[in-house]
Amino acid sequence: MKQAQSEERRAVHIAAVIMQTAGLCRYDDDNGCRRVNIPTNDDCVKCIEKWLLAKARREIKREEKRS
Ligand SMILES: [Zn+2]
Repeated sequence: MKQAQSEERRAVHIAAVIMQTAGLCRYDDDNGCRRVNIPTNDDCVKCIEKWLLAKARREIKREEKRS
């Protein structure tokens, strides 16, 4: 169980790195992406990870409501 969790966590990180490399940060405004204030790629990877996880949570909630 712990193993599966860390694999999923790693998958989210890999997806975020790929998105960051492709310039696909979801935060275009100054308040969203910390990249604007602290211009390092790592910070932007973190904000993309946050976005992916928030999106997953929203989707799970929607599916729970449907069932
Ligand atoms: Zn960003």
